[in-house]
Amino acid sequence: MSDLKTELKAFAVERGADGVGIVSVAAFEAKVPNLQKPSSTGLGYRSIVAFYRHALSGAFMTKHVPLQSLNGHLTMDDIERLQMELIDWLERRGHLGVAPPPEAAFLDLDPRKPMGTLDLKWVCEEAGIGTVGLNLNFLSPNYASRVYIGCIMTDAEIEPDPPMARDLCPGVSCGRCGVVCPPDAIPRDVALEAGLREYRTLNKRQCSLGAERIGIRSIHLNIESVLNSDKPFDADAVLESPYMRDWWQSVNSKVGAFAACFECMYVCPVGDDYKAMYKTADRAGDLPKPGVKHQKEDGHHRINWIGPPVARVKIFNRDSELGKALEK
Ligand code: SF4
Ligand code: SF4
Repeated sequence: MSDLKTELKAFAVERGADGVGIVSVAAFEAKVPNLQKPSSTGLGYRSIVAFYRHALSGAFMTKHVPLQSLNGHLTMDDIERLQMELIDWLERRGHLGVAPPPEAAFLDLDPRKPMGTLDLKWVCEEAGIGTVGLNLNFLSPNYASRVYIGCIMTDAEIEPDPPMARDLCPGVSCGRCGVVCPPDAIPRDVALEAGLREYRTLNKRQCSLGAERIGIRSIHLNIESVLNSDKPFDADAVLESPYMRDWWQSVNSKVGAFAACFECMYVCPVGDDYKAMYKTADRAGDLPKPGVKHQKEDGHHRINWIGPPVARVKIFNRDSELGKALEK
């Protein structure tokens, strides 16, 4: 390994990254089927440095979802700090770098459009620091998807790392995330003989009902629900809606804007942190009975859907709460 690569990786780990890998820009450019190519971010770059760091494990051991959401945002802030520090480190050695934004997305969630400048989960899989699972979440070997991911691009030519030889996620033969996903956004009916890479996917629009429940899309839809209501406008009813309180919190701290659903993260058994997590009292019951049921017939492998524990059902899909407040 070149000195630059060894020293760069050591610096990233020292500054908080849990995994770091290198991708060749030319090789990745040739593989990406849509506009989320390195060349969409900038020309003249030769390597991508991909990395992840874990969301602090303690927050997953409470039942306090906004606290977990805050933990996600703190981790994302740390990803951005790491991007800045890695580029600064490279620039001090005569190289150039750019930080593709980890949060950028097209807000209409149109599946035909790319979701940002680079799709970081694929970058990280290519970098050999983890693999993409059944629900298109990036899984790391030590913290599963309880991580945030980032990357930088640099003009430095750094030897790429090989992708992992095996997927960390076994697909529907595990299926735990699909069984609990509140808006049923994860594949649960796949061809019996198909491998994970043929069927892993996510209905992103459905997922946003859970993961971005007080985000910009939800705010637009709530205002629309008021404007479209055939009930007379009642300012008190709208202002007293719990949605207004959560909206204020979301605008001020991003809590609920994204990283607001953790159901698939709670139940994913990959990772060294899982054993400690599932033993805690507040994590008991994340996978309601009867658990995952497998049905293999007619060339299909199907699993059941249960949804999250009853106590958490009402916190998802908040797209028309303001309109509903007028009906009370
Ligand atoms: S974040 Fe929530 S809604 Fe999205 S895939 Fe995971 S469980 Fe489903
Ligand atoms: S819960 Fe199971 S199926 Fe879902 S991502 Fe994790 S390992 Fe894969």
